[in-house]
Amino acid sequence: MAEQRLTPPVHLGLPTSAPKPAAECDICQALVHERQLAEARGNKTKVVDLNLELRSHPKHEGQR
Ligand SMILES: [Zn+2]
Repeated sequence: MAEQRLTPPVHLGLPTSAPKPAAECDICQALVHERQLAEARGNKTKVVDLNLELRSHPKHEGQR
């Protein structure tokens, strides 16, 4: 039995611009690469997901 309940999309007012990866972070670089692949496939859910990961990547938070 499929639930017919409508779940409202959780939009946090994300800007369309992609977050910048840290230049020296391999993980960020990999995330960007994956994002490009996802974009090429039209997988917007994945793109948003990867953007979130990039934005909140903790390893260099507060580092400058
Ligand atoms: Zn990173």
